[in-house]
Amino acid sequence: MSSESVKVVVRCRPMNARERALGCKTVVSMEPSRCQCFIEKPGAPEEPAKQFTFDGAYFSQHSTEQLYNEVAYPLVEGVTEGYNGTIFAYGQTGSGKSFTMQGIAEPPAQRGIIPRAFEHIFETIQCAENTKFLVRASYLEIYNEEIRDLLGNDTKQKMELKEHPERGVYVRDLSMHMVHSVAECERVMEKGWKNRSVGYTLMNKDSSRSHSIFSIHMEICNTDASGEDHLRAGKLNLVDLAGSERQSKTGATGERLREATKINLSLSALGNVISALVDGRSRHVPYRDSKLTRLLQDSLGGNTRTLMVACLSPADNNYEETLSTLRYAHRAK
Ligand code: ADP
Repeated sequence: MSSESVKVVVRCRPMNARERALGCKTVVSMEPSRCQCFIEKPGAPEEPAKQFTFDGAYFSQHSTEQLYNEVAYPLVEGVTEGYNGTIFAYGQTGSGKSFTMQGIAEPPAQRGIIPRAFEHIFETIQCAENTKFLVRASYLEIYNEEIRDLLGNDTKQKMELKEHPERGVYVRDLSMHMVHSVAECERVMEKGWKNRSVGYTLMNKDSSRSHSIFSIHMEICNTDASGEDHLRAGKLNLVDLAGSERQSKTGATGERLREATKINLSLSALGNVISALVDGRSRHVPYRDSKLTRLLQDSLGGNTRTLMVACLSPADNNYEETLSTLRYAHRAK
């Protein structure tokens, strides 16, 4: 597999009002034309800035529109042609994962990757000739290494992960929902979103402690000039990862600490899988180490495309977390 099929970009959000009020300094800088990101250690002006190179480097002046067109567009286009693709945002809580994935309505350039992908898919369907499409959506959550169907009749029920010689790894009885338009896709997603487990940590009371995967399954039937049908299937996974912050900073204890350990387990398993795929020489890709990586097995590696957006805070008081995100993302490169 070529490393071309895994792309890792970094995106740094602007300083927020709280950080400005605290008198925080900016420690992150970018050289977008070279896809480089630099980070300076606070209070150590004599130390050279650490430098990392990615497939893209986006700062406050860049919009989600630009990011989408440069790195997400080819991946989603591939899905409409019958390939699997996975997009996820990684980073500590408050670093801009939702801003990047869900986005905001105004200005339109900051609409998220998810609504753009929905539009992209349905525009392609509308413009296609001699091709029929069947589009279905599923939405699941991994919380404490347990899987739940966010669109099922009983969203509390724990779902079983199964393995089939041809079908590969799948979730038994996961519900599938036909979608015919962007609006329908958004409605389905919103319904599932409301069923997510939302935890409370000191850093951000709304921070989600679970990982979720919204998948768009496409069946594509193309009729050639001789009238013969050709069937293909593509799948787009939009993954919303829990915050990557370490538990020491969030003040977690008891149940929360147990959760945090499992969150870190899935995130490190994902890092290990991607780094083994990018390396290309590893015989063993450790998919089996977490539910998240087992589930994404058919969409990470092989004939698929993966995009990771590593989200960063520019402020000096997040230095350690930001450096650890950069290291995680760089390992995946
Ligand atoms: P996360 O999902 O990682 O917890 P959010 O996406 O909620 O973080 O971002 C935290 C805050 O920062 C939000 O108020 C969001 O609007 C703002 N923000 C994040 N990224 C950007 C950006 N690139 N430009 C402007 N504001 C941003």
